Amino acid sequence: MSRYYSVAIDGPSGAGKSTIAKMCAERFGFLYIDTGAIYRTVGVAVRNAGIGSKDEAGVTAVLPSIDIAIRHDGNGLQRMILNGQDVTDEIRLPEISIYASDVSAMPAVRSFLLEKQREFARTNNVIMDGRDIGTVVLPDADLKIFLTASPDERAQRRFEELQLRGTQATYDDVLRDIVYRDTNDSRRSAAPLRPAEGAVILDTTGNTLTQSFELICGLIEEKMSR
Ligand code: C5P
Repeated sequence: MSRYYSVAIDGPSGAGKSTIAKMCAERFGFLYIDTGAIYRTVGVAVRNAGIGSKDEAGVTAVLPSIDIAIRHDGNGLQRMILNGQDVTDEIRLPEISIYASDVSAMPAVRSFLLEKQREFARTNNVIMDGRDIGTVVLPDADLKIFLTASPDERAQRRFEELQLRGTQATYDDVLRDIVYRDTNDSRRSAAPLRPAEGAVILDTTGNTLTQSFELICGLIEEKMSR
């Protein structure tokens, strides 16, 4: 029977999870799954349906009509397909961050997406990032990492990323969004953001991206050599 490895990376917004996970996936030939992008896609579907982000009954009612597919393009980029339409760029809009954070607090949304996420790890070596990968989605992952950094540093990193993409937002907007989502994600009762049992906690404040990347590669190598 083949054996698949799984690496779970959780942490707050802007900690560098996606960037580092994607780089690690390339280095080790693993499949990278950005679960935040899946929640964001639900956010787009809810907004498109004209439902408020906190309208739990409305969101629950619309879930059966949401079809989400993931495609990986030649560059390893995860493309999100919502009911046949590519929404990969749209999910990054700041307003969709808020939709994603609000709808992800709803138990119906979390259970709607749970099996979809687990399925990837049954048939691939995966690196999955999110908020509850080590605690709920893959509690038996070979390696669990909780990646964090100070809110100011995370806001600065996200601000620079948005500027590079040409998205209009001020540093203060980005910091406000990060603090809002930190509070939402860690205080909700459904799968709150917290380090999983046995997770390695890495605070990357003051680290360069390369330093954090190499540190995590070292942890993965150590696990795989056992
Ligand atoms: O990671 P990203 O910022 O793209 O995630 C968008 C939102 O989706 C987060 O603010 C969080 O509320 C939610 N999310 C979640 N569980 C995950 C991944 C993301 O609740 N596993």
